[in-house]
Amino acid sequence: MSNVLVVVEIGDGKLRAHSLPGITAGAQLAAALGGELHLLVLGAAPQAAAEGIAAAGYGAKTVHVGAHAELEPFTAEAWADAIVAAARSLGVAAIGGTATSTLRDALPRAAAVLDAPLAPEVTAIKGPRVFGREVSAGRAIAEIALEGDVVCFTARASEFAPAQPGAAATVAALAGISAAKRGATVLSIEKTQSARPALTEAKVVVSGGRGMREGANFKVLEELTDLLGGALGASRAATDAGMVPADLQVGQTGKVVAPNLYFAVAISGAIQHLAGMKNSKVIVAINKNGEEPIFQIADYGLVAKWEDTLPRLVELVRARKG
Ligand SMILES: Cc1cc2nc3c(=O)[nH]c(=O)nc-3n(C[C@H](O)[C@H](O)[C@H](O)COP(=O)(O)OP(=O)(O)OC[C@H]3O[C@@H](n4cnc5c(N)ncnc54)[C@H](O)[C@@H]3O)c2cc1C
Repeated sequence: MSNVLVVVEIGDGKLRAHSLPGITAGAQLAAALGGELHLLVLGAAPQAAAEGIAAAGYGAKTVHVGAHAELEPFTAEAWADAIVAAARSLGVAAIGGTATSTLRDALPRAAAVLDAPLAPEVTAIKGPRVFGREVSAGRAIAEIALEGDVVCFTARASEFAPAQPGAAATVAALAGISAAKRGATVLSIEKTQSARPALTEAKVVVSGGRGMREGANFKVLEELTDLLGGALGASRAATDAGMVPADLQVGQTGKVVAPNLYFAVAISGAIQHLAGMKNSKVIVAINKNGEEPIFQIADYGLVAKWEDTLPRLVELVRARKG
């Protein structure tokens, strides 16, 4: 078989927007392999969500439903087990999806059980089983070819356009799906309470760096964020210093984002930070030092202290919004 199975994620009964770039990558791979695109929806009772996804199709032939009580809350062990079961029963040539924290965790385990090679965080589909991916935090691009009956990949969200709705797909229930937790049990989940969009799904991201000096100073960034309906981000130096929670970190070892508008405030632009935001459509940098590397990729740069500029910017945006 030369079909591609893309594992998608759901939230509040709907497809998570961050799964869309992975579907695009899967469609490109299916075209290169001369096969069909199939989607896999996992959860305790994901039937209704799967039907919604199938109605939009996204270029897929079939949306497969893997329902099992052990798939919620998420554990990488149970999801890996279900992905393996689905891959074996469908006999696909490739399995993948967007490189989200969920798939980064579950897919390598599934690949190990299947004895399949995995290309993580790919940035391009170069051919059947041939992928492009960044190495050394984006200093070089490697082209890698995987060999095997089945190969696995995760796609970097910022490098593939979100899949668009198309002709409806069919829905098929996967019978006898297993989901063994292999000793891992989630005892509790404390969700971040935020009215803001998820960092990886926001159209506007406002990030602060070490130059913000302390957590309380992020308040002015939060004001700008909320006026623009965006998500708050940060450099690793800012999260490591405890100014803001670690889940706001953007970069090589944090979230990879590609919003329409990215503000980098008091961030120097280290290559590891750029790896997580350089594909943003418009980048605005505010930094007191005009020599910093962030200005090399910024579309708009302001050499100034944030203390002197951000409150005024907030005022202007507020006035413009009425
Ligand atoms: C393996 C590895 C992985 C990493 N992963 C990540 C990652 O995922 N994300 C990430 O961000 N980093 C990551 N890093 C760290 C990265 O190398 C940098 O150390 C970090 O990005 C620096 O953060 P920063 O720009 O906030 O701090 P700094 O480099 O200290 O820059 C602070 C900036 O603030 C400016 N500034 C100071 N005061 C003001 C002011 N009043 N007004 C305006 N500007 C001001 C300064 O001019 C300076 O440019 C990683 C490093 C390694 C080794």
